[in-house]
Amino acid sequence: MFFVKKLGIDLGTANILVCVPKKGVVLNEPSVVAVSIPENKILAVGVEAKMMIGKTPDNIVAYRPIKDGVIADYRVTEAMLRYVINKTLGGGSIFKPEIIISVPAGITSTERRSVIEAAYKAGAKGAYVVQEPILAAIGAGIPIYEPVGRMVIDIGGGTTDIAVISLGGVVYSASAKVAGNKIDQAISDYIKKNFNLAIGDQTAEDIKIKIGSAVPTSKELKMTIKGRDFLTGLPKSVEIATNEIVKAIRPELREIIKTIKGVLRETPPELVADIIERGVTMTGGTSLLAGLDELIFRETGVKAYLADEPLLCVVKGTGIALEHLDIYKKSIVSKR
Ligand code: ADP
Ligand code: MG
Repeated sequence: MFFVKKLGIDLGTANILVCVPKKGVVLNEPSVVAVSIPENKILAVGVEAKMMIGKTPDNIVAYRPIKDGVIADYRVTEAMLRYVINKTLGGGSIFKPEIIISVPAGITSTERRSVIEAAYKAGAKGAYVVQEPILAAIGAGIPIYEPVGRMVIDIGGGTTDIAVISLGGVVYSASAKVAGNKIDQAISDYIKKNFNLAIGDQTAEDIKIKIGSAVPTSKELKMTIKGRDFLTGLPKSVEIATNEIVKAIRPELREIIKTIKGVLRETPPELVADIIERGVTMTGGTSLLAGLDELIFRETGVKAYLADEPLLCVVKGTGIALEHLDIYKKSIVSKR
């Protein structure tokens, strides 16, 4: 057991991360929960639960409770929060932590209260929620309190969240339910349709990360994929190259671009001028997709810069906010 009183939690659609001020990221696991059906009991959370996906007997389901950026099940959220609190503080800890939790910019006040309630039930002494784009910006090193318009584009697993920030607040935001998961799905669908090959979610994600790109390239990468031919039912392998993936995921990327353009149109002109001058900052795991910065620039005319460690920006933002609560209290949405 170690002496920790403050935890920052990024409850993402794909990954759940925890940060302790001065220690850094202390937990980074998939946001998956396994539940037994008859008893409705939570069996496992995180890495252990993810290993059960697709391999569980009928009476156990392993699923992601945070879908499309919306918390689908608060009881399960509470269990997830309890798991991360216990795992980071040690089960027998007598200290109840103060926690900051990231929430989607467009969350309703009812949803917000439920998250805070879940945090207290899970053992928190104090719970604050902060809008995710604010945390992403802080974690990306953006000085959010300047009277300057900044745009953060966070592309994660379930959602793409775009926000314009100025003077420490979200001026405008939009969210689209298109990000890494839909891109993976598009890759599986493409391979199914063109090669009669059924592949798993994990394989689709591997393909995306290893050879995927948002823009066509003359330096194509190739990959051999193993799966099951769904006509013969037998194992089969095919070779696929980068530009095929570009084609397969084009509609999903178009959706993301459309959302960015929509935000640029709705943003007040002075702030747009700031954004054009400084470019946009990309955070979230899917912003690592090769060529996505290039595609954003080509389609919107605004330079896009990938933040350092894009998968960690939000959680690092929670850590920085916890260390400097006095500075960031203006951006904290609510406390019970
Ligand atoms: P969330 O905040 O929704 O939990 P994350 O920011 O953790 O999401 O990002 C998870 C997504 O990032 C997944 O869809 C994953 O496949 C994708 N991802 C991670 N690394 C890469 C990479 N190198 N290239 C493309 N996508 C990536
Ligand atoms: Mg995220």
